[in-house]
Amino acid sequence: MLAYHETPIQQIPDLRLRDAGVTLLVKREDLNHPTVSGNKWWKLKYNLAEARRTGKTTILTFGGAFSNHIYATAAAARELDFKSIGIIRGEETLPYNAVLQFAQEQGMRLHYISRENYRRKNDDDMLSQFRDRFGEFHLVPEGGSNALAVAGVAEFGKILGDAFDYLCCPVGTGATLAGLIRCFKGTKRILGFTVLKGDGWTEEVEKFDPGYSNWRLMQDYHGGGYAKQTPGLQQFIEEFSSLYFPVENVYSGKLFYGIFDLVSKGYFDEGAKIMAIHTGGIHAS
Ligand SMILES: *Cc1c(COP(=O)(O)O)cnc(C)c1O
Repeated sequence: MLAYHETPIQQIPDLRLRDAGVTLLVKREDLNHPTVSGNKWWKLKYNLAEARRTGKTTILTFGGAFSNHIYATAAAARELDFKSIGIIRGEETLPYNAVLQFAQEQGMRLHYISRENYRRKNDDDMLSQFRDRFGEFHLVPEGGSNALAVAGVAEFGKILGDAFDYLCCPVGTGATLAGLIRCFKGTKRILGFTVLKGDGWTEEVEKFDPGYSNWRLMQDYHGGGYAKQTPGLQQFIEEFSSLYFPVENVYSGKLFYGIFDLVSKGYFDEGAKIMAIHTGGIHAS
Protein backbone atom coordinates (compact mmCIF):
# COMPACT_ATOMS: atom_id res chain seq x y z
CA MET A 1 0.00 0.00 0.00
CA LEU A 2 1.01 3.61 -0.46
CA ALA A 3 2.58 5.34 2.52
CA TYR A 4 0.06 7.45 4.42
CA HIS A 5 0.73 10.29 6.83
CA GLU A 6 -1.97 11.24 9.30
CA THR A 7 -3.30 14.73 8.76
CA PRO A 8 -4.53 17.41 11.15
CA ILE A 9 -7.87 19.17 11.33
CA GLN A 10 -7.14 22.87 11.56
CA GLN A 11 -9.51 25.59 12.68
CA ILE A 12 -9.31 28.84 10.72
CA PRO A 13 -9.11 31.76 13.17
CA ASP A 14 -10.63 34.34 10.86
CA LEU A 15 -12.66 37.33 12.06
CA ARG A 16 -15.07 37.02 9.16
CA LEU A 17 -15.99 33.59 10.44
CA ARG A 18 -16.15 34.65 14.07
CA ASP A 19 -18.38 37.61 13.25
CA ALA A 20 -20.77 35.31 11.43
CA GLY A 21 -20.76 32.90 14.37
CA VAL A 22 -19.48 29.95 12.35
CA THR A 23 -16.54 27.61 12.81
CA LEU A 24 -14.47 26.51 9.83
CA LEU A 25 -12.45 23.34 10.26
CA VAL A 26 -10.13 22.13 7.53
CA LYS A 27 -9.02 18.55 7.12
CA ARG A 28 -5.51 19.03 5.77
CA GLU A 29 -5.60 16.00 3.53
CA ASP A 30 -3.18 17.83 1.25
CA LEU A 31 -0.53 16.66 3.74
CA ASN A 32 -1.25 12.94 3.55
CA HIS A 33 1.59 12.11 1.15
CA PRO A 34 4.35 14.20 -0.44
CA THR A 35 3.35 13.44 -4.03
CA VAL A 36 0.20 11.29 -4.14
CA SER A 37 -1.64 13.87 -2.11
CA GLY A 38 -5.14 14.72 -1.06
CA ASN A 39 -8.14 13.04 -2.57
CA LYS A 40 -5.96 11.38 -5.23
CA TRP A 41 -4.44 9.12 -2.58
CA TRP A 42 -7.88 7.80 -1.63
CA LYS A 43 -9.12 7.61 -5.20
CA LEU A 44 -6.13 5.50 -6.17
CA LYS A 45 -6.07 3.26 -3.11
CA TYR A 46 -8.50 0.59 -4.31
CA ASN A 47 -7.60 1.05 -7.95
CA LEU A 48 -4.02 0.09 -7.13
CA ALA A 49 -5.18 -2.79 -4.94
CA GLU A 50 -7.30 -4.06 -7.82
CA ALA A 51 -4.36 -3.87 -10.23
CA ARG A 52 -2.28 -5.87 -7.79
CA ARG A 53 -5.04 -8.40 -7.16
CA THR A 54 -5.48 -9.06 -10.87
CA GLY A 55 -1.74 -9.47 -11.38
CA LYS A 56 -1.29 -6.43 -13.62
CA THR A 57 2.13 -4.83 -13.71
CA THR A 58 1.21 -1.70 -15.65
CA ILE A 59 -1.26 1.09 -14.89
CA LEU A 60 -2.65 3.06 -17.82
CA THR A 61 -4.57 6.26 -17.29
CA PHE A 62 -5.61 9.53 -18.93
CA GLY A 63 -5.38 13.22 -18.33
CA GLY A 64 -4.73 16.71 -19.60
CA ALA A 65 -1.27 18.24 -19.46
CA PHE A 66 -1.95 19.85 -16.06
CA SER A 67 -3.67 16.88 -14.46
CA ASN A 68 -3.10 16.28 -10.74
CA HIS A 69 -4.29 12.76 -11.39
CA ILE A 70 -1.46 12.11 -13.88
CA TYR A 71 1.01 13.52 -11.37
CA ALA A 72 -0.32 11.40 -8.51
CA THR A 73 -0.64 8.21 -10.56
CA ALA A 74 2.92 8.46 -11.82
CA ALA A 75 4.20 8.81 -8.25
CA ALA A 76 1.95 6.06 -6.87
CA ALA A 77 2.95 3.63 -9.62
CA ARG A 78 6.58 4.26 -8.93
CA GLU A 79 6.19 3.80 -5.18
CA LEU A 80 4.43 0.46 -5.69
CA ASP A 81 6.64 -0.74 -8.55
CA PHE A 82 4.05 -0.62 -11.29
CA LYS A 83 4.92 0.59 -14.75
CA SER A 84 2.73 3.52 -15.75
CA ILE A 85 1.45 4.97 -18.99
CA GLY A 86 -0.18 8.38 -19.22
CA ILE A 87 -2.37 9.04 -22.23
CA ILE A 88 -2.26 12.82 -22.56
CA ARG A 89 -4.87 14.93 -24.35
CA GLY A 90 -3.61 17.09 -27.22
CA GLU A 91 -0.30 17.86 -28.85
CA GLU A 92 3.04 17.33 -27.19
CA THR A 93 4.58 20.68 -26.28
CA LEU A 94 8.18 21.04 -25.22
CA PRO A 95 9.62 21.72 -22.78
CA TYR A 96 7.29 19.76 -20.53
CA ASN A 97 5.41 21.63 -17.84
CA ALA A 98 6.08 20.75 -14.19
CA VAL A 99 3.36 18.08 -14.07
CA LEU A 100 4.52 16.17 -17.13
CA GLN A 101 8.17 16.55 -16.28
CA PHE A 102 7.51 15.12 -12.85
CA ALA A 103 5.45 12.27 -14.29
CA GLN A 104 8.21 11.38 -16.69
CA GLU A 105 10.81 11.51 -13.94
CA GLN A 106 8.69 9.01 -12.01
CA GLY A 107 9.01 6.69 -14.99
CA MET A 108 5.60 7.30 -16.54
CA ARG A 109 5.55 6.76 -20.27
CA LEU A 110 3.66 9.66 -21.86
CA HIS A 111 1.66 9.14 -25.00
CA TYR A 112 -0.20 11.98 -26.69
CA ILE A 113 -3.46 11.59 -28.56
CA SER A 114 -5.55 14.16 -30.41
CA ARG A 115 -8.47 15.82 -28.67
CA GLU A 116 -10.78 13.95 -30.97
CA ASN A 117 -9.31 10.56 -30.08
CA TYR A 118 -9.22 11.60 -26.45
CA ARG A 119 -12.98 11.92 -26.48
CA ARG A 120 -13.16 8.30 -27.66
CA LYS A 121 -10.48 7.06 -25.25
CA ASN A 122 -12.76 4.56 -23.51
CA ASP A 123 -14.12 3.02 -26.73
CA ASP A 124 -13.23 -0.59 -27.37
CA ASP A 125 -11.25 0.14 -30.51
CA MET A 126 -9.12 2.76 -28.74
CA LEU A 127 -8.50 0.47 -25.79
CA SER A 128 -7.49 -2.37 -28.06
CA GLN A 129 -5.09 -0.02 -29.84
CA PHE A 130 -3.56 0.79 -26.47
CA ARG A 131 -3.29 -2.94 -25.69
CA ASP A 132 -1.55 -3.62 -29.01
CA ARG A 133 0.87 -0.85 -28.32
CA PHE A 134 1.55 -1.19 -24.59
CA GLY A 135 0.54 -4.75 -23.68
CA GLU A 136 -1.75 -5.67 -20.78
CA PHE A 137 -2.58 -2.96 -18.27
CA HIS A 138 -4.92 -2.02 -15.47
CA LEU A 139 -7.05 0.87 -16.66
CA VAL A 140 -7.72 3.77 -14.32
CA PRO A 141 -10.18 6.27 -15.81
CA GLU A 142 -9.63 9.99 -16.21
CA GLY A 143 -9.30 11.71 -12.84
CA GLY A 144 -9.12 8.24 -11.27
CA SER A 145 -12.88 8.47 -10.97
CA ASN A 146 -14.72 5.17 -10.76
CA ALA A 147 -16.54 3.05 -8.19
CA LEU A 148 -13.23 2.04 -6.57
CA ALA A 149 -12.36 5.72 -6.13
CA VAL A 150 -15.74 6.42 -4.55
CA ALA A 151 -15.17 3.54 -2.13
CA GLY A 152 -11.76 4.94 -1.19
CA VAL A 153 -13.15 8.41 -0.49
CA ALA A 154 -16.01 6.90 1.52
CA GLU A 155 -13.39 5.22 3.70
CA PHE A 156 -11.57 8.54 4.10
CA GLY A 157 -14.80 10.17 5.30
CA LYS A 158 -14.81 7.95 8.39
CA ILE A 159 -11.70 9.61 9.78
CA LEU A 160 -13.46 12.99 9.82
CA GLY A 161 -15.47 12.04 12.87
CA ASP A 162 -18.86 13.53 13.59
CA ALA A 163 -18.29 16.96 15.13
CA PHE A 164 -19.56 19.21 12.32
CA ASP A 165 -22.76 20.19 10.50
CA TYR A 166 -21.60 20.97 6.96
CA LEU A 167 -19.07 19.14 4.84
CA CYS A 168 -17.54 20.95 1.85
CA CYS A 169 -15.32 19.81 -0.99
CA PRO A 170 -14.44 20.87 -4.53
CA VAL A 171 -15.99 19.04 -7.48
CA GLY A 172 -14.02 18.12 -10.59
CA THR A 173 -15.53 14.86 -11.80
CA GLY A 174 -17.69 14.52 -8.66
CA ALA A 175 -16.30 11.17 -7.48
CA THR A 176 -14.89 12.69 -4.31
CA LEU A 177 -18.19 14.35 -3.46
CA ALA A 178 -20.03 11.10 -4.17
CA GLY A 179 -17.72 9.19 -1.82
CA LEU A 180 -18.33 11.68 1.00
CA ILE A 181 -22.09 11.56 0.47
CA ARG A 182 -22.01 7.81 0.62
CA CYS A 183 -19.91 7.80 3.77
CA PHE A 184 -22.29 10.02 5.74
CA LYS A 185 -25.40 8.07 4.80
CA GLY A 186 -27.82 10.98 4.67
CA THR A 187 -26.41 12.83 7.70
CA LYS A 188 -24.70 16.27 7.55
CA ARG A 189 -25.29 18.86 4.85
CA ILE A 190 -22.83 18.23 2.10
CA LEU A 191 -21.81 20.98 -0.32
CA GLY A 192 -19.82 20.46 -3.52
CA PHE A 193 -18.17 23.49 -5.14
CA THR A 194 -17.88 23.00 -8.89
CA VAL A 195 -14.64 24.17 -10.51
CA LEU A 196 -15.81 23.92 -14.11
CA LYS A 197 -18.29 26.03 -15.99
CA GLY A 198 -21.49 24.67 -17.42
CA ASP A 199 -24.34 22.63 -16.07
CA GLY A 200 -25.13 18.98 -15.85
CA TRP A 201 -22.99 18.55 -12.71
CA THR A 202 -25.81 17.04 -10.72
CA GLU A 203 -26.05 14.22 -13.27
CA GLU A 204 -22.27 13.83 -13.25
CA VAL A 205 -22.27 13.31 -9.49
CA GLU A 206 -25.24 10.97 -9.72
CA LYS A 207 -23.32 8.77 -12.16
CA PHE A 208 -21.21 7.77 -9.17
CA ASP A 209 -24.30 6.63 -7.36
CA PRO A 210 -23.95 8.62 -4.12
CA GLY A 211 -27.24 7.23 -2.86
CA TYR A 212 -28.59 10.10 -0.69
CA SER A 213 -30.05 13.55 -1.27
CA ASN A 214 -28.56 15.65 1.55
CA TRP A 215 -26.16 17.43 -0.83
CA ARG A 216 -26.09 20.55 -2.96
CA LEU A 217 -23.83 21.91 -5.64
CA MET A 218 -22.49 25.44 -5.37
CA GLN A 219 -21.91 26.51 -8.95
CA ASP A 220 -21.00 30.19 -8.70
CA TYR A 221 -17.35 29.86 -7.80
CA HIS A 222 -15.63 28.40 -10.87
CA GLY A 223 -14.24 31.81 -11.75
CA GLY A 224 -14.90 31.37 -15.48
CA GLY A 225 -14.03 27.70 -15.89
CA TYR A 226 -11.36 25.09 -15.24
CA ALA A 227 -8.16 26.77 -13.98
CA LYS A 228 -9.67 30.17 -14.83
CA GLN A 229 -9.84 32.97 -12.30
CA THR A 230 -11.51 36.27 -11.69
CA PRO A 231 -9.51 39.10 -10.06
CA GLY A 232 -11.54 38.65 -6.85
CA LEU A 233 -10.77 34.94 -6.73
CA GLN A 234 -7.10 35.53 -7.40
CA GLN A 235 -6.90 38.12 -4.66
CA PHE A 236 -8.68 35.82 -2.22
CA ILE A 237 -6.28 32.96 -2.99
CA GLU A 238 -3.22 35.13 -2.40
CA GLU A 239 -4.60 36.51 0.82
CA PHE A 240 -5.81 33.16 2.16
CA SER A 241 -2.54 31.41 1.25
CA SER A 242 -0.47 34.03 3.05
CA LEU A 243 -2.68 33.99 6.16
CA TYR A 244 -3.25 30.27 6.62
CA PHE A 245 -1.88 27.65 4.23
CA PRO A 246 -1.39 27.29 0.49
CA VAL A 247 -4.42 26.82 -1.71
CA GLU A 248 -4.16 26.59 -5.50
CA ASN A 249 -6.34 28.18 -8.12
CA VAL A 250 -7.92 25.09 -9.66
CA TYR A 251 -9.70 23.41 -6.72
CA SER A 252 -8.98 24.38 -3.14
CA GLY A 253 -8.81 28.12 -3.85
CA LYS A 254 -12.29 28.03 -5.35
CA LEU A 255 -13.57 25.95 -2.46
CA PHE A 256 -12.45 28.40 0.22
CA TYR A 257 -13.45 31.41 -1.85
CA GLY A 258 -16.92 29.93 -2.10
CA ILE A 259 -17.16 29.11 1.60
CA PHE A 260 -16.12 32.64 2.61
CA ASP A 261 -18.58 34.14 0.15
CA LEU A 262 -21.41 32.01 1.52
CA VAL A 263 -20.42 33.01 5.05
CA SER A 264 -20.57 36.69 4.08
CA LYS A 265 -24.04 36.16 2.64
CA GLY A 266 -25.33 34.52 5.80
CA TYR A 267 -25.81 31.13 4.19
CA PHE A 268 -24.76 29.21 7.30
CA ASP A 269 -26.79 29.42 10.48
CA GLU A 270 -25.16 30.85 13.57
CA GLY A 271 -23.21 28.23 15.46
CA ALA A 272 -22.69 26.10 12.35
CA LYS A 273 -19.56 23.98 12.20
CA ILE A 274 -18.23 23.64 8.69
CA MET A 275 -15.72 20.96 7.76
CA ALA A 276 -13.84 21.59 4.50
CA ILE A 277 -11.54 19.09 2.83
CA HIS A 278 -8.24 20.40 1.50
CA THR A 279 -8.01 17.94 -1.37
CA GLY A 280 -4.40 18.75 -2.25
CA GLY A 281 -3.08 19.84 -5.61
CA ILE A 282 -0.07 21.73 -4.24
CA HIS A 283 3.02 20.39 -6.02
CA ALA A 284 6.41 20.58 -4.49
CA SER A 285 8.15 20.82 -7.84
C1 LIG B 1 -8.67 15.94 -8.79
C2 LIG B 1 -8.91 16.95 -7.73
C3 LIG B 1 -10.20 17.29 -7.29
C4 LIG B 1 -11.45 16.77 -7.95
O1 LIG B 1 -11.87 15.54 -7.50
P1 LIG B 1 -13.10 14.79 -8.21
O2 LIG B 1 -13.18 13.50 -7.51
O3 LIG B 1 -12.70 14.59 -9.66
O4 LIG B 1 -14.29 15.65 -8.11
C5 LIG B 1 -10.32 18.16 -6.23
N1 LIG B 1 -9.24 18.72 -5.66
C6 LIG B 1 -7.99 18.45 -6.07
C7 LIG B 1 -6.84 19.14 -5.44
C8 LIG B 1 -7.78 17.56 -7.12
O5 LIG B 1 -6.53 17.31 -7.54
